Amino acid sequence: MIKAIKGVKDLLPEESPRWRFIEDTGRRWAQRYGFQEIRVPIFETTMLFARSIGATTDIVEKEMYTFADRDGSSLTLRPEGTAGTVRAFIEHNRAADPRPQKFYYTGPMFRHERPQAGRLRQFHQFGVESFGIANPRADVEVISLLWRLLSDLSLPGLTLEINNLGYSDDRARYKPLLVAFLKSVETRLCANCQRRIEGNPLRVLDCKVPDCRSATEDAPRLADSLSPAARDHFACVTAGLQSVGIPFDLNPRLVRGLDYYCLTAFEVTCSHLGAQNAVGAGGRYDGLVEQLGGPAVPAVGFAVGLERIALMMPDAVIVPSAPRIYVAAFGTKAVDVGCALLDELRQAGVPADMDFRSTSLKAHLRQADRLGALYTILLGDDEIEKGTATLRNMQTKAQEDLPLRDLVSSLQGRLRTPESAPFSS
Ligand code: ATP
Ligand code: MG
Repeated sequence: MIKAIKGVKDLLPEESPRWRFIEDTGRRWAQRYGFQEIRVPIFETTMLFARSIGATTDIVEKEMYTFADRDGSSLTLRPEGTAGTVRAFIEHNRAADPRPQKFYYTGPMFRHERPQAGRLRQFHQFGVESFGIANPRADVEVISLLWRLLSDLSLPGLTLEINNLGYSDDRARYKPLLVAFLKSVETRLCANCQRRIEGNPLRVLDCKVPDCRSATEDAPRLADSLSPAARDHFACVTAGLQSVGIPFDLNPRLVRGLDYYCLTAFEVTCSHLGAQNAVGAGGRYDGLVEQLGGPAVPAVGFAVGLERIALMMPDAVIVPSAPRIYVAAFGTKAVDVGCALLDELRQAGVPADMDFRSTSLKAHLRQADRLGALYTILLGDDEIEKGTATLRNMQTKAQEDLPLRDLVSSLQGRLRTPESAPFSS
């Protein structure tokens, strides 16, 4: 038997309502905030990710799915959405457009990781990118979109943490201080962090290994090296969040794994997720557009992981979608009339279904129940003779005869009653 690849999952029909609900909620909130959907390719030239995400990050060092194209050029399955969106922004000269350039995307991402709950090799993200606005209000807008969206999904135990990463000059001033400190505690650090000292020393600060945490307790603080401009920006962000009532914790250890962030960095975690507790993260990346060959355009964005959201979201928030009408036709003539009726209902916009394998009334009713139909139309050869159909309410079991003519419009009227409101389209 051929099986799916390790760390890559099928989404079966039972799970689809949950996923669609999450995606629809994301789209709805993004649109409310003036973000428009962008769809960028699933694979790009490897250089794009290497140049933007950073050579010393986990993603580029060990997680990318990179392969040679037939002409030998190196391609990579996208590990995240920002790089491709920035490439598209530059390639289509969107900086020249005076309208706000605020994009959202959703789709699969690929990282070669050790698969476990909430960590897959093909996973899905929903993300937004806001280009062109250096004003800290853009940071607040993006963070509040993230917070409102996750709150609307009723995710339990959410915490928003934020940190100020400063400008690259600030970090350049800070790095030698940090490196000197890390060298003094080198033997207490995990192998990964020992390697990071030269390549990506800031990452040591948010290593999850307890020994690394305690070894870096007294590390010099980035906050002490920040320029007044960086401090001002961050103060506006925190004030903005307070003014719209979004709760946050300051976390001086929060350093995003990607190189391109500056100033505001943030992450939302969920206490119900165990080890993989990050739901989403983002930050400001003012230098990236220029770094990838575009004009100097400031930007800020986030991405959330849909698998982790799907794991945490309570069942109660999902409205089940079921066919509203089941057509139970039995008898030679009746099956023909029933199929025509099925088609008419569907064309009229009413979800309707029939199981063509069922030949008895009993078998049909069982399937109608399993499918969660609101009403079943019973059609036998007798009814056809009389020009009627029997309508059965599947909840109350009440039945009544209706004329076959105008059946579709009378059903449409009935489906507008409050009783069927949750199913209205
Ligand atoms: P983590 O620390 O869990 O590895 P990350 O910093 O690599 O996360 P980001 O690159 O910020 O994650 O991606 C944003 C979100 O995408 C994460 O918060 C998480 O919800 C989700 N995510 C990242 N990697 C995976 C994965 N391999 N499987 C499922 N979801 C993922
Ligand atoms: Mg990761």
